Amino acid sequence: MGRLTAIVLGAAAGGGFPQWNCRCPVCARAWDGSIPARTQCSVAVSGDGERWILLNASPDLRSQIHATPALHPRGAPRGSPIAAVVLTGGEIDQIAGLLSLREGQPFDLFGTAETLCAVDANPVFAALPPDRVPRRPILPDVAFALPGGIEAELFALPGKVPLYLEGAARDLAGDPGTNVGIEIRRAGARLVFAPGAAALTPGLKQRLAGADLVLFDGTLFTDDEMIRTGTGTKTGRRMGHMPIGGPDGSLAGLSGLSNRRIYIHLNNTNPALLADSAERRAVEAAGWEVAEDGMELVL
Ligand SMILES: [Zn+2]
Repeated sequence: MGRLTAIVLGAAAGGGFPQWNCRCPVCARAWDGSIPARTQCSVAVSGDGERWILLNASPDLRSQIHATPALHPRGAPRGSPIAAVVLTGGEIDQIAGLLSLREGQPFDLFGTAETLCAVDANPVFAALPPDRVPRRPILPDVAFALPGGIEAELFALPGKVPLYLEGAARDLAGDPGTNVGIEIRRAGARLVFAPGAAALTPGLKQRLAGADLVLFDGTLFTDDEMIRTGTGTKTGRRMGHMPIGGPDGSLAGLSGLSNRRIYIHLNNTNPALLADSAERRAVEAAGWEVAEDGMELVL
C-alpha cells in the first residue's frame, strides 16, 4: 500500500514566475537567474504511486509533465499514469493545460457543475470529447472517490467567478461552486489544497486545522501589492485572493495552525518569493514554507 504523495508541479499564480512581460523587482531576480523560476499552479497527488491525479491543469502542464518522472508516459505505444484531473475553478491558469492532454488519452475530469459548464461553454474543449474524458460533476461537501484509494471532497471558498466570465451578467462573487478547495484523504492522512481564498471562514479554519498538510493561497503578500509595484490596478481581494500579511491576512488569521503549511499560487510580485526578504522571514518565522516546483510531499 502506498502513501499519500503530492508533488508541486507549479507553485506560481497565473502568468508564472517570472512573468513573460514583467521586470518588477521580484521578477528581475528570476530573470537574472538568482532565484528559481516557478511554473503556474498545479499539484499532482497519488495514493499508490502508480495512478496520479492532477489538481488543476495549468498552461505549463506539458513542461511540468516533462520535469516530473512520475508523470512520464507508460505502456506501449501509448499510456499515461495521469488518471484524472480535478479542477478547483475555471480560471485560464486552472484549465488551459487540459488542451495539452488532448492526444486521445482517456481520463476522468472532476469539478463542480459550475466549473465543468464553464469549460464546456468553450468549444475548444471539444478536443476532449466526453466519451473519452468523462465529466464528473461533484457537489461541494460530498465525498467522492479518486483512483488509487483516495477519498476527496470539494468545499466552497470565498472567491469570485473566472476573470473571463466577469461582466457576463453574473454576480462577481459567483455561486458556491465557482471557486473551491479540495481535501484529499487516504489511510488517515489529510491534505488540503486551497489556492484561491478571498477570506477565512470559521469552517475553512477548522478544515485547515484538521489537515496534516495545507497548501494555501499565497498569491500576494499585501492586498495592494500590484498597485504599488505598478503591475496592475486591482487589489488582491478584488482578484479573489486574501493577502498573506497584515492584520487581516492569512498569517495572522491562521496563526493557530501547527501542521505543515505551505504557501502556493504565488504571484510574481510577491516578495516572499525572495529567500532574503523580510516578507520571507515573516512567513518562515510563523512556521510556513514557500512552495517550489518539484517539491515532493509524502504524508
Ligand atoms: Zn513581476
